[in-house]
Amino acid sequence: MGWEAPPLHILLFPLMSPGHTLPMVDLAKLLAARGVRTTILTTPANAPSLEAAIELAQRSYQYPIELHVIPFPSTAVGLPEGCENASSVPYYQHPAFMTGVTMLQEPFRRVLTKLLPDAAITDWFLPWTFNISEELNIPRLVFHGISFFALCAHASLLFEQLPTDEDTITIPNFPRRVELQRSQMPDETQMHPVFTEIIRQIAEWEPKSYGVVVNSFYELEAEFADHLRNVLGQKAWHVGPVSLCNARAEQQSRRGNKPAIDGEECLKWLGEKEAGSVLYVCFGSMGTFTEAQFRELALGLEASGRPFIWAVKKCRDEWWPERFMARMEGRCLILRGWAPQILILNHAAVGGFVTHCGWNSSLEAVTAGVPMVTWPFFAEQFFNEKLLVEVLKIGVAIGAKQHTVVPEQRPLITAAEIERTVRRLMDDGEEANRMRSRARELSIMAKSAVDEGGSAYIDTQNLIQELTNRRTMPNSKSQ
Ligand code: UDP
Repeated sequence: MGWEAPPLHILLFPLMSPGHTLPMVDLAKLLAARGVRTTILTTPANAPSLEAAIELAQRSYQYPIELHVIPFPSTAVGLPEGCENASSVPYYQHPAFMTGVTMLQEPFRRVLTKLLPDAAITDWFLPWTFNISEELNIPRLVFHGISFFALCAHASLLFEQLPTDEDTITIPNFPRRVELQRSQMPDETQMHPVFTEIIRQIAEWEPKSYGVVVNSFYELEAEFADHLRNVLGQKAWHVGPVSLCNARAEQQSRRGNKPAIDGEECLKWLGEKEAGSVLYVCFGSMGTFTEAQFRELALGLEASGRPFIWAVKKCRDEWWPERFMARMEGRCLILRGWAPQILILNHAAVGGFVTHCGWNSSLEAVTAGVPMVTWPFFAEQFFNEKLLVEVLKIGVAIGAKQHTVVPEQRPLITAAEIERTVRRLMDDGEEANRMRSRARELSIMAKSAVDEGGSAYIDTQNLIQELTNRRTMPNSKSQ
């Protein structure tokens, strides 16, 4: 019998937050389906939900996805024991959480030294993984989990001194003219030093990394993918939409945390509604509101006249408008906690999505062919809104103006504005019909991209091939 090379082994290290972990677990599944050995690095409290997701996928793989668990120093940074996920930490404790994350450097080094994978794909919020990987001559690839559009915008704005007194900013050196209000951009002067240091490290080490793996598909944002590669000189692979690897209803309803509703029950509720009539409302894993905004949203959804599913993360009983539940009986499904989002978005009854424009949610809606009401809060969400509304033309903006993690700092969006925007998206007018048909076309393209021979399928193969070839090169370097 001839000697057979061991499979390519890739270590994946996501930041512990659903928006970062879920797509990287999907990426691990995609790689495993192509015969790659994969190991996901996480912490004890995050392991159970990953185990569940992986278990459902395992059967078809030659090499099972492995989980490697390292301890998280919650109490050392002042967080409660077992508090190991950004989504379970209030925004004012995010600096403590990130301090804990940066303390994972030594455990990461030990794991890397022990496993010696062929490559490490790590979250962009873990820039120090570059140095450690380089010491061991292991290529580090960055996973941002954001769009090409946002990657290009970040790169263009990184070294720009943003004017504080101008209302509008045009993104410099960008493939097309895109304007944002100054208030829709982060205010660096308000940033906690932990984040300032992470941003500094990203700016220094990310360009030295081996390349970027992007959860998007080429046809969706070709001009920005080309710009990133050809103008900004960034090596990148487009491998998305990665969520499409969850083909079975069982996988879709168990992706992430334990859902607040049984998948079957959710499908039954949706099955009783007309095609395209239901609005799905969810603001990702971290979207929170003030009481006043929460009430306006409830009243706006009521006034829209549409059936809706609303994934409510944090609210108190007294926040609900009086007799709201009684009036909405049969018309709405309130999920107090985690929604089986992909299952919902892909149901024929769902015709619109009110979203905070997190990239995963945005891309999942694109993939399902669902147009959106866009309501960004922070991070790169305002860039995603621009892409959805102005470039792809499958979204209507609610009119959010303030980039902030603090709900109290956001100007109130009234019930009347919410009603108006939802009606614009869901009615039978020409604009809404155009958005719907564009969303349907993009959904078809998304699915073709990951099918055999599609753009994402091929680029995933290119990535695997390049890393495999690199193994056999004498003195191969980490970059
Ligand atoms: N998600 C979900 N159910 C929820 C909330 C979120 O399944 O109730 C998933 C959603 O499908 C997406 C991820 O969590 O894959 C959230 O990522 P995104 O980038 O949209 O937002 P973030 O939570 O990072 O702000």
